[in-house]
Amino acid sequence: MIYQRHIPGDELFVAQLEALMQNGRVATMSVHLVGVVATVILFWQYLPLPVTLLWAAGFSIVLLLRSLQMSNALVERTYQSHPRRVYWQLLIGTAVTGMIWSAVYIYVASKVPITMQYMFLLVIVMITAFSMGYSVFIREYFIVYIFASLWPMAWWSLVHYWDQSYNLLIGLLLLAFCAVLVSVSDRVYQSFRNMISLNWERETMAQELGDLTTSLRDRNRQLRDARRQLTDLANIDELTGLGNRRLVNNVLREEINRARRGNSSLAVILLDVDYFKDYNDNYGHPAGDLVLKRLADLMESATARAGEVVGRYGGEEFILVLPGASIQSALRTAERLKELVVAAGIPHEKSDIGGIITVSQGVVSVIPDADLAPADLIKRADKALYQSKHSGRNTITVN
Ligand code: GH3
Ligand code: MG
Ligand code: MG
Repeated sequence: MIYQRHIPGDELFVAQLEALMQNGRVATMSVHLVGVVATVILFWQYLPLPVTLLWAAGFSIVLLLRSLQMSNALVERTYQSHPRRVYWQLLIGTAVTGMIWSAVYIYVASKVPITMQYMFLLVIVMITAFSMGYSVFIREYFIVYIFASLWPMAWWSLVHYWDQSYNLLIGLLLLAFCAVLVSVSDRVYQSFRNMISLNWERETMAQELGDLTTSLRDRNRQLRDARRQLTDLANIDELTGLGNRRLVNNVLREEINRARRGNSSLAVILLDVDYFKDYNDNYGHPAGDLVLKRLADLMESATARAGEVVGRYGGEEFILVLPGASIQSALRTAERLKELVVAAGIPHEKSDIGGIITVSQGVVSVIPDADLAPADLIKRADKALYQSKHSGRNTITVN
């Protein structure tokens, strides 16, 4: 994944629109409404009251509509889907608001006492100064407002310098004020933009960090799974799915230690399929494989207790590790297994024992002393197994 370090232009634009509307939605309406109230208070004696009230109502509706339009754009996220359209709507809104103020100023200039006119001018100037705080997220938005409100008032005052003694001065001051606002707004705009960019970068980095953590976690899980698979491969016999000699030896070592600590018994049954070479020769090696699988299933069903392990110890030799089993208990398991194998009745026409597959078993149960090794147990079980073979097979011998 490639991460972007700097905010792309179109995303910056959308973020600016969002910041402007988030901040301006309420502020625009409140600041201008305060201006409307101040205007009514200033002029109600000097202008026809119905006109003043009608204007106030009309202007309030315009402000309300603008605020609703911003809220709508924020809720419906049109500033993301159609940023240009929202941009132009905002510019038109601010231009109309600015023009209403300049029109009122020009309209009242000859109709109200000069002090009232100056007070009104002060109100407009203050509104403009205030609005910089929440509208310079998009600089044009503020500039358009200045050029719709203060700028026409400045030119009107200059053109009518002869009408009132201070018009020339007011015009020049307003022009200078416009220039100052335009230049200051540039700096404020730059810092707003930086703020948005930094915010974006911080969020992107947090996201990036989150993604990295997730992918690291995924990698760790994959590694753990792979390690588990490797361990399984090293310990599991592919044909039967039983534990192999390596696993059995580890289990034996652990169980010997446990039995030694607990002074408890541990039994082992070693099994060998009777006349299996002949079976392979007669039915083929693949059929022999199926028999080994079948026997593995039978052995697993013969062991039910927790901790009992069945393993494939060699070619057609199997082993059962029975922790805690006395010789009687181990013998019972061996008998059960013998019966299961006979009951399975797997045909083996070359076998002397009823023409079916049988197994010979050697059983050992010990309470391990200090120097009993797994190999000692196996050796004893093997000896018993050898004895079983000699006594005619399909038998169980205890050692
Ligand atoms: P006994 O009754 O004395 O055990 O006679 P046996 O023929 O079974 O003699 P032995 O145990 O020596 O024979 C082992 C045979 O087991 C030889 C080999 O063909 C077969 N065998 C070993 N591993 C596999 C295997 O994975 N698949 C198959 N199909 N046969 C196997
Ligand atoms: Mg064998
Ligand atoms: Mg055999």
